[in-house]
Amino acid sequence: MGDKTEESKQEMENLNVLASTQSIIQDALSKLGYPEQVYELMKEPMRMLTVRIPVRMDDGSVKIFTGYRAQHNDSVGPTKGGIRFHPEVSEDEVKALSIWMSLKSGIVDLPYGGGKGGIICDPREMSFRELERLSRGYVRAISQIVGPTKDIPAPDVFTNSQIMAWMMDEYSRIREFDSSGFITGKPLVLGGSHGRESATAKGVTICIREAAKKKEIDLTGAKVVIQGFGNAGSFLAKFMHDAGATVVGISDAYGALHDPEGLDIDYLLDRRDSFGTVTKLFKNTITNEELLELECDILVPAAIENQITSENADRIKAEIIVEAANGPTTIEATRILSDKGVLIVPDVLASAGGVTVSYFEWVQNNQGYYWTEEEVEAKLENIMVKAFDNVYKASKIRQVNMRLSAYMVGVRKLAEASRFRGWV
Ligand code: GLU
Repeated sequence: MGDKTEESKQEMENLNVLASTQSIIQDALSKLGYPEQVYELMKEPMRMLTVRIPVRMDDGSVKIFTGYRAQHNDSVGPTKGGIRFHPEVSEDEVKALSIWMSLKSGIVDLPYGGGKGGIICDPREMSFRELERLSRGYVRAISQIVGPTKDIPAPDVFTNSQIMAWMMDEYSRIREFDSSGFITGKPLVLGGSHGRESATAKGVTICIREAAKKKEIDLTGAKVVIQGFGNAGSFLAKFMHDAGATVVGISDAYGALHDPEGLDIDYLLDRRDSFGTVTKLFKNTITNEELLELECDILVPAAIENQITSENADRIKAEIIVEAANGPTTIEATRILSDKGVLIVPDVLASAGGVTVSYFEWVQNNQGYYWTEEEVEAKLENIMVKAFDNVYKASKIRQVNMRLSAYMVGVRKLAEASRFRGWV
């Protein structure tokens, strides 16, 4: 009985994304030989703002939304990271997401620390104008602590280039100068970058290719399952299909589709809505849980947190898991799968293509000089291949899984910058 309670307590802690991130950070810092105070500094964001945003709804009523902006550590440079609109946004989640952004920037070597924002809302149930008022209200509420040289937001779950455009416009009005470098993921005509929309999926594709080489899996004909059909999942399905892989399963928040012969990706892309919903159009769906356990070579969780846990890890058949979502696999599941020989390319590496091209967008905004799609792609390719190599090599040298080695690579720059500044 005692053991059982201990076990479930353990698993519950693993499901708290902040607690589990903290425990890996602690592990990484102690393996790197840093003293305890460095962990004390890194375990929470240095700044966390909670805001209440009144929004006039279309029916005339006023609804008050809660939002957050977390700034993890700005020792390396301004903080950077997306804004999530989702009913399950919480303070701990936004904190963990900001820490992950610090790690991503460290891994791909960008001059940023991590930041993240979120609003508790369900954009699927809001009108276009309500979303505009909410986006502008959020920027007014956080404007004091953000800016092109302080903290640069971007899209995340259920936010897109239109929302970035409203936010940029609101910020520019408040500051009374055109501030395209305030936010990334903007439409091209407002200073967005070529390749930003597909960047996360491009980065994931590069990681899949590199991981497949290590596992000696031929991508042509390899069976791929993708959980999530949002920005990352949908572009990824297309890239995998174009690379000659067979996408045998995809899903959205409502269910999943499976065809062992390969799904008609172009058709599905054509029919998905802007939130990535497509399975509602079909009768023969399976559940998201069943999807994860399908026979396949490569599994890509590209949806939300805590999808692969100690409960289902044993039943997963993929040889490679590449995490396009943030935090889809718990620590315990990582251990079970690594012991089975599954290669897990962790979120903080695999999904870093998005923030990398956001960085390119910011650089272009600052210079007022714009790059071609080919330039963006070539630069992204170089950065991702180098990052994959660094993390993979570190995992071999240190004899640790790629999640821990990614944390070690990612946290080092922050720790060094904080030390040189005399903070720790
Ligand atoms: N929201 C994305 C992420 O989680 C992108 C952040 C950015 O572009 O700054 O990596």
